Amino acid sequence: MTEVLEQQQARGTGVTRISHWIGGRPVEGRSGRSGPVFNPATGEQTGEVDFASVEEIDAAVASAKQAYESWRKVSLAKRAELMFNIRELVHERREEVARILTAEHGKVLSDALGEVTRGLEVVEFACGIPTLLKGDFSEQASTGIDVYSIRQPLGVVAGITPFNFPAMVPMWMWAPAIACGNTFVLKPSEKDPSASIWTAELLKEAGLPDGVFNVVHGDKVAVDRVLEHPDIAALSFVGSTPIARYVYETGTKAGKRVQALGGAKNHMVVLPDADIAMAADAAVSAAYGSAGERCMAVSHVVAVGDVADDLVAAIQERLPKIKVGNGMEPDVEMGPLVTREHRDKVAAYLDKGRDQGATVVADGRETTPEGNGFFLGVSLIDDVTTEMDVYKDEIFGPVLGVSRVATYDDALRMVNENPYGNGTAIFTRDGGVARQFQFDVQAGMVGINVPIPVPVAYYSFGGWKASLFGDRHIYGPEGIEFYTRGKVVTSRWPDPATSQVDLGFPQTR
Ligand code: NAD
Repeated sequence: MTEVLEQQQARGTGVTRISHWIGGRPVEGRSGRSGPVFNPATGEQTGEVDFASVEEIDAAVASAKQAYESWRKVSLAKRAELMFNIRELVHERREEVARILTAEHGKVLSDALGEVTRGLEVVEFACGIPTLLKGDFSEQASTGIDVYSIRQPLGVVAGITPFNFPAMVPMWMWAPAIACGNTFVLKPSEKDPSASIWTAELLKEAGLPDGVFNVVHGDKVAVDRVLEHPDIAALSFVGSTPIARYVYETGTKAGKRVQALGGAKNHMVVLPDADIAMAADAAVSAAYGSAGERCMAVSHVVAVGDVADDLVAAIQERLPKIKVGNGMEPDVEMGPLVTREHRDKVAAYLDKGRDQGATVVADGRETTPEGNGFFLGVSLIDDVTTEMDVYKDEIFGPVLGVSRVATYDDALRMVNENPYGNGTAIFTRDGGVARQFQFDVQAGMVGINVPIPVPVAYYSFGGWKASLFGDRHIYGPEGIEFYTRGKVVTSRWPDPATSQVDLGFPQTR
C-alpha cells in the first residue's frame, strides 16, 4: 500500500490531508511521499501533507507560466484594485487564519494575529503598485529625443518559506511579486502548510486569476526542482543559514535571481545608563515571544559594565510570571515549540551551556507544562562566552543568553565578530553613543531602545553577513526592484528636418 493510500485511510481518524494548489484548484499529490503535521500544543498529528514530485513542481510552474502571459497585461489599476480586495478579505478573516497558525505552529493567538497584521502591511504597500512602478522620463535628452525607464515583471517567480511565519513571510513575497505582474509558485514549510492553502483560496475569492498563485508542498526534492527549473526567473528564500547558502549558490548557478535570507543571533546591548526596567521588559518580550522562534528574537543580551547584576535580576524576576500553555487559551503568553525534535534540541542546550561553564539561571525544563505538547519553559543562561555552543548556534527557542563585557567597544566587537548580522539593538539614554552604534554596527536592522526592529513595510527587511545571501533585501522598495527588471527606452518621433545619415557614435550634445 502506498503512503498516500495510508493517508486516505487515516482521514477517518481526524488527520487532514493537505494537498497542493495548482491552476486555481486543489491538486492531490501523487508522489506517494508525504509528511506529518502536528498540533504542537497537544502533540497530536492533525494533518498529512503531500510532498511534491519533480513532475508536480513542473505542473505548478507550467500553470504559472501560462497565467503569466495574460497577467502581465492586466492594467496597474486592476492590479491595485485586486490588492485592495485581498487586503480587505484577509483583514475580515484574520481570526480564521490566526487560528490555523496557532493550531500548526503553536504561537499564541494574539501573536498569530500580529503576524497577519504585519504581513498585511506588505499587501497594503503593494496596493500602491501604480506609484511604485513609475519610471523616469527625460524630455529632450538629445535634440528631438526623449529617454525613459520602465520596470517590467520577471515572469514566474518562486518563494520557499520557513515554519516560523507561515502567513507573513509568504506575504512578503507574493504580494509584491504579483502586484509587479509576476506569477508565483510557493513552497511553504512542510511543518505548518495549511495557511498557504487558506491564502490560495482567499486570493481566488478576491478575484486573482487561476495560475497566478500556486502552492506546492514538499521537501528537498521540491526545492531542488525549483532551484533548477528553467522557467523560474527568480527565487526568494527565507530559512536557516545553511539552506539559504545552498539555495543562493544553486539558484544563481542555474541563472536565477536569488535573495536568500538566513538565520540570526540578535544581540541586545545594554549600556550602564539604560533604563533597567525598560531593558528587562524588552529582553523578556523579545527573547520569549513566539517561544523564541523568530529570526528577529533577541537571543543574546550583552550587558556592559556594572549593569549586569541588576539587569539579570530584573529579567529573572519577570520569568515566573510568563504563562506557558496552549496558544488558543486567551491568557497564555507563550506556546510550545514547533516539533518534539526541535523542543528536545533546544532543551539540550541547557546542559551544553552548563557543561561549558555558563550559569543556568533559569532552566526551562523545570517549568515546562505537563502533557504531550512540545512545551519548554523559559530559560536564562548567564556568563556566556563566545566559544560556547549556546552563543555560537542559533538556538531558536525560549533560551536567552547573557554575556558580561567591560566596555561599549567590547560589546560592539562582539556583535560585529558574530557571523550573523540580522538585527541588533542598543539600550541607552545616550543619543551620541546610540548614533555611533548605528554607524558602526554590522547588521541590517538596528533598534535604538527597540528590541525587535522589523522595518515597516515601506522600508525593506534584511540582514547582513550570514543572515542574507544576495543583493536585495525583501519587501518594501527593494522588493519591488527584486521582482522587476529595468528597461530604458530612447525614442524619437519621425521628423524629416532632423533626419540624416550619420555613422558616428550617438552624441547627446
Ligand atoms: P529551514 O531552513 O529548515 O527551512 C526553510 C525552507 O527550506 C523550508 O521550506 C524547508 O522545507 C526547506 N528546506 C529544509 N531543508 C532543506 C534542504 N536540505 N534542502 C532544501 N530545502 C530545504 O528553516 P526553518 O526551520 O523552517 O525556519 C527557521 C529558520 O529560518 C531560522 O534559522 C530562522 O532564523 C530563519 N528565518 C529567517 C528569517 C529572516 O528574515 N532572515 C525569517 C524567518 C526565519
